[in-house]
Amino acid sequence: MANSIKIINEKCVGCQMCAKACPFNAISMIERPEQEHSKKFMLASIDLNRCTYCGTCSQTCKFNAIELKKDVPMTSIDKSLYKGVWVFAEQRHGVIHRVSYELLNKGKYLAKEYGTTLSAVLIGDNIKSKAQELINRGADKVYVCDDPIFIEFQEDPYSLVFSHLIEKEKPEIILIGATDIGRSFAPRVAAKIKTGLTADCISLEVDTQTRNLKQTRPAFGGNIMATIMTPEHRPQMSTVRHKVFKEVQVEEGRTGEIIDFKIDAKTIINRTKFLGFMKDESICIDISDADIVVSGGRGVGSAEGFKLLKELADLLGGAVGASRAAVDTGWIPYSHQIGQTGKTVSPKIYIACGISGNIQHNVGVNADIIVAINKDSSCYMMQTATYALEGDLFEIIPNIIKEIKSCKCN
Ligand SMILES: Cc1cc2nc3c(=O)[nH]c(=O)nc-3n(C[C@H](O)[C@H](O)[C@H](O)COP(=O)(O)OP(=O)(O)OC[C@H]3O[C@@H](n4cnc5c(N)ncnc54)[C@H](O)[C@@H]3O)c2cc1C
Repeated sequence: MANSIKIINEKCVGCQMCAKACPFNAISMIERPEQEHSKKFMLASIDLNRCTYCGTCSQTCKFNAIELKKDVPMTSIDKSLYKGVWVFAEQRHGVIHRVSYELLNKGKYLAKEYGTTLSAVLIGDNIKSKAQELINRGADKVYVCDDPIFIEFQEDPYSLVFSHLIEKEKPEIILIGATDIGRSFAPRVAAKIKTGLTADCISLEVDTQTRNLKQTRPAFGGNIMATIMTPEHRPQMSTVRHKVFKEVQVEEGRTGEIIDFKIDAKTIINRTKFLGFMKDESICIDISDADIVVSGGRGVGSAEGFKLLKELADLLGGAVGASRAAVDTGWIPYSHQIGQTGKTVSPKIYIACGISGNIQHNVGVNADIIVAINKDSSCYMMQTATYALEGDLFEIIPNIIKEIKSCKCN
């Protein structure tokens, strides 16, 4: 079921009462179409992206010029028109985000299961030279939207060009990284093209009979895994966090099609102004990319305690992570948080110091080996770790540091 609302042009007298009454600023006054120029007054126009179908405008209008229909059956779309798996190839300053290679890996699998092609979409300025990289990573086609307006990421231009391209080409599945860019951009695109979006998926599988994508993600605070489908709409859109899937291998010399997609920059209404780009200099090694992560929780006890973890991480060439408990108390910045509301890590070794192993934390840990250091041998982290070291972390870690230093000296 859906709602519909429209202005009946013949009845609208341009009195502006509806625009003044609308609590969501969804109505503005526009010029009448040319064929109605005999009527001198303006015409009300509803922005459906803002309208909540609350009915205030239709109740206010004295001329019955607004037709609101609630819960009308949806006209079903022709799903057979939608073909292909797409990956949004996120880039910043010409560097493709590695999550794009991970999505291409999953995309390649999905395209095979669906018996279709895999495409990447590259939006940026002076970016076309990067298209071959995406072909080498498995894309059969790369759509390139190359224009100076896309030099820095901004929601309006990016979501507009992407939604225009989707409407033209009609892909069946779209995968986007759940990065800062993806998280602000994907919902806008989904709203523009009126389809569903499943955020932060950790698994994507195919229902070959219905061609519905089974999108699994944590729900209810991470206590259950929910599998979500988009049976009535196309395309099916999912975001996936960095490091959830493995990167696709490079195949040098692969061939593919590079397709330019142009949009008249004058038609883009950009509501934000780009002022400048400031890099976060506090992060030496990004925990998402580190092979070794030494992570601390409430058991670390203080910001001072994290210095011990940093010393161990530095010796091992790793990065420092944290549980939300440690971040919330202000011992370490949020950029180090691992888990459902933090980052996902997939290091070779994850050393969990004073972390009990709640589901909301563990969902962000995708490690080959887990070493737990904890006083409580019964906690989940100790029970599930590859190696569990029972005891006080302030006794165990200095001993490990001493051992490593003596090995390095010899
Ligand atoms: C919606 C939602 C989202 C969330 N998102 C996240 C998230 O993204 N990331 C996250 O981490 N959490 C998240 N949480 C919080 C999560 O549920 C836990 O509360 C949190 O992970 C607990 O952190 P902890 O293990 O450090 O603390 P605790 O559970 O308090 O565990 C501390 C551990 O330290 C041990 N310990 C204490 N002193 C020492 C010592 N000296 N030596 C050795 N061991 C010691 C204790 O035995 C204990 O096991 C979320 C919660 C909700 C509801």
